[in-house]
Amino acid sequence: MKCAKTPLKGWKELPEGGTITEPGSSVLFDASAWRTSMPIIDHAKCTKCGMCWIFCPEAAIKVNPDGSYEVEYMYCKGCGICEKACAVKAIKMEEEKK
Ligand code: SF4
Ligand code: SF4
Repeated sequence: MKCAKTPLKGWKELPEGGTITEPGSSVLFDASAWRTSMPIIDHAKCTKCGMCWIFCPEAAIKVNPDGSYEVEYMYCKGCGICEKACAVKAIKMEEEKK
């Protein structure tokens, strides 16, 4: 579940105040770099209701062709909203292992 190393910039390289210095600059940054915990989906418990997908503020949860849900860790900031949104507790936040 660990993110692959990328040449993208981490949070320490953000401009002061998170200022956007040029349009579209977000593609240069690894948004997952400041995550301290990561959501893990237990597919045996998941009912495929889609609530995590609806509530994720980063659109970091994707739907697979078979209807299952998956976290795209490259875009996940570890906020834990998906864990709270899941009524059957199929998502558990675990300490980041990066
Ligand atoms: S909110 Fe929970 S049950 Fe619903 S799709 Fe997401 S992980 Fe599955
Ligand atoms: S922890 Fe936050 S950013 Fe990551 S998938 Fe869940 S809701 Fe989205």
